[in-house]
Amino acid sequence: MPSRSAVSRRKLLQGLAAGTAASSVSSAQTAPGVNKFSAPSKLKITDMRACTVAANYDYPIIRIDTNEGVYGLGEVRDAGVKGIALILKAHILGRNPLQIDNILRTIRPFAGQGRMGGGYSAVDMALHDIAGKVYGVPAWRLVGNKVRDRIRIYCDTTGHKDPKIYGQRMAVRKKEGFTFFKMDLYTSLVGGRPGAIHENGAATEKGLGYLCEYIAAVRDAIGWDAPLGADHFGRLSVNDSIRYAKAFEPYQLAWAEDFIPWQDWRGYKKICDATTTPILTGEDAFGLEEGFQDLIDNEAIDIIQPDPETSGALKETKRIGDYADKHGIPTVLHFAGSPVGCMASVHMACTLRNFVCMENHAVDMPWWQDLVTGPKKPIIQNGYIPVPDTPGLGVELNEEVVKQHLRYPGYFEPTPMYDDFIVSGFRRVGGWPHYDEDGKWTTRMTY
Ligand SMILES: [Mg+2]
Repeated sequence: MPSRSAVSRRKLLQGLAAGTAASSVSSAQTAPGVNKFSAPSKLKITDMRACTVAANYDYPIIRIDTNEGVYGLGEVRDAGVKGIALILKAHILGRNPLQIDNILRTIRPFAGQGRMGGGYSAVDMALHDIAGKVYGVPAWRLVGNKVRDRIRIYCDTTGHKDPKIYGQRMAVRKKEGFTFFKMDLYTSLVGGRPGAIHENGAATEKGLGYLCEYIAAVRDAIGWDAPLGADHFGRLSVNDSIRYAKAFEPYQLAWAEDFIPWQDWRGYKKICDATTTPILTGEDAFGLEEGFQDLIDNEAIDIIQPDPETSGALKETKRIGDYADKHGIPTVLHFAGSPVGCMASVHMACTLRNFVCMENHAVDMPWWQDLVTGPKKPIIQNGYIPVPDTPGLGVELNEEVVKQHLRYPGYFEPTPMYDDFIVSGFRRVGGWPHYDEDGKWTTRMTY
């Protein structure tokens, strides 16, 4: 039989527990912005699944599920594959998705450059989607504060061998409401003209004159004062890049993009130092330390252009953008994916002080925005995307439309084949058998 003091102690504890529960429920119900249906400390990741939309590029979209029904959406870099995200599943199962920094630290070694940064980036987006929904705040609130209400968009425009027709196509963009422009200035545009291409593949001085005719025609169409970038020159040496950039100077481009591979910061420094044409790169780089720091620290670039679906999505791209800002370098965002990754990028971009504009590669695809519900339609309004204030990314998939455009059969099918570690199993069982300091065979962790 329990003693009197034990009974009263039990009653006291029961009363305290009841009081605690009652007060926490009432405060959760009354506190604005707190999701009373969620118990954040008990949240666990239970699954990661994916599907791939076949669009202008493939859009691999992931969904991270939890034990409380709340889930997050993310997207692997356009033209990437879902497997680069799914191989991370075993590393995040069972973990609290609100521990965003801890999870990202775990999976960072699996992030590579180009499309190989897409898995990490997709997971980052999905975690911010979950955390935003749980705390009842837009994803931008989790990485900073909003410094602008709308995101300026630029888009690509299909070129034409006839400069006049190219100019007309760019004029259509202006009519559509865009205020920032970019043209593809392939060296091959002038390939058919005698004496235009050197045997090394670069334009001769004569060929550069022809290329400038295209810029002049576009300038005449959109205005000589409108911001205009240029891209896709072909593979050039550093010296040829300098020749191109100097030839373009009278046209005051907003930037010339990706003259040489982004890893060659020394080459970029030589180009930047030799011309007044602003030089930009970065769409295939992941991470601040891994990708952008050398370019920024060495003043080797005028403008950076991370693609958030490669560079690390919200948290890492925010780090990159802020670091560039500290060094007086503006940030443009490359983007060619679905509205999921687009809106994730919008959330991040609205917190960057040095943000210039972001790309959209699907403005001519009528069903692009039908893939989702949530954002106000049209998603791009007069060349800008309004920043949402809805919780998480503020995007849900329109299942019916997504299913009409699947690359492979299956819509978020189970992924048990990814439940076990595939790339690295270092942390699978904890202490590995080894000899300890005393020479004894042990599984005790001593390191
Ligand atoms: Mg590019």
